[in-house]
Amino acid sequence: WCSASSLSATLRRGFFSRLVNTLIFAEHEEGLVKNSSVRAIEAAGAISKENSISVLLAGTGPDLEKAASHAASAHPLVSQVLVADSDMFLHPVAETCAELVKLVHQMGSYSYIIAASNSFGKNLIPRAAALLDVSPITDVIEVPEPRIFVRPIYAGNALCTVKYTGTDPCMLTIRSTSFPLSTLESRTEASPISQVDISTLKEAALGRSRWLSLTSQDTERPDLGNARIVVTGGRGLKSAENFKLLDKLANKLGAAVGATRAAVDGGFVPNELQVGQTGKVVAPELYLAFGVSGAIQHLAGMRDSKVIVAVNKDADAPVFQVADYGLVADLFQVLPELLEKLPEK
Ligand code: FAD
Repeated sequence: WCSASSLSATLRRGFFSRLVNTLIFAEHEEGLVKNSSVRAIEAAGAISKENSISVLLAGTGPDLEKAASHAASAHPLVSQVLVADSDMFLHPVAETCAELVKLVHQMGSYSYIIAASNSFGKNLIPRAAALLDVSPITDVIEVPEPRIFVRPIYAGNALCTVKYTGTDPCMLTIRSTSFPLSTLESRTEASPISQVDISTLKEAALGRSRWLSLTSQDTERPDLGNARIVVTGGRGLKSAENFKLLDKLANKLGAAVGATRAAVDGGFVPNELQVGQTGKVVAPELYLAFGVSGAIQHLAGMRDSKVIVAVNKDADAPVFQVADYGLVADLFQVLPELLEKLPEK
């Protein structure tokens, strides 16, 4: 027998010592979990080292199988991999995946649900949060305490510390550039992989969005979000034709090409190359900026780069305030010279 007070104390103790239970929605490509999703696992580790992490993968076919095996040994904190295998996830769309996240949460009652803060995660998490009737916290860059998060506001000019006081699950998107891959040994023993029963996900529940086609440029260059070197051009490049100089430089350096919004609006390059507040957030080892003034909205997307090099003919350009190396010069002289001096790849 146990008295009412000792029973409630036992329950309370049980409640507080309960393992933190986190679901990571992981994206994958060509049989591998994307780096940004592995960093979401790191963020879960920052919430609690006692975190029991389930990784959810949606897809179909051999690539999904390979990605599941990768996820099972990708990180020592992963305790299980959940696989939703269906044709409806051949090309996952956020609406369908939000229903999946809701279903998986109903089965597992997670304390946290996390995805990377990229175009997919930013589309998915608010939808899934609405379905689960909780308020998500986006763009998390630091976790000082469980349920307390730091996120940038005003284009990264201020940091806001927020406390989550809502009910479970606490849903987050995390800025992967802020959670570097740890040096923890990867698992020697792979964690178990289980299939999610998605039979209750009816067609009707899948919303009105359908995947139609994918248009992407055929390029051997690294993805802008993951590249070690990024070569960015601004309005100073003046035309799409001149941007080809940056393409050549990127080819020689094995770099990705980025652009400012002014360069995108000017039609020099497509929208997906935009870096900044309303574009991609990058943090490469080397960021080379040519003809970029350094507006705060642009800096918001690249100021975490390890080494920043700027070439601008205006010595007062704000970009020099964040640059590690600055060259006041005409880019149309510098770029051909650089191209000539760099060896062919
Ligand atoms: P400019 O500011 O015109 O600078 C061009 C620079 O090139 C100048 O400094 C000039 O000295 C230099 N230059 C010119 N010719 C040469 C030469 N021959 N050699 C060397 N240097 C030369 N911007 C982004 O980039 N990303 C965003 O995500 C983004 N989001 C935004 C969101 C909002 C809500 C708003 C209001 C704005 C946003 N912007 C964004 C726009 C941003 O405010 C700036 O307008 C933009 O970044 C400027 O781009 P730029 O540096 O290419 O052009």
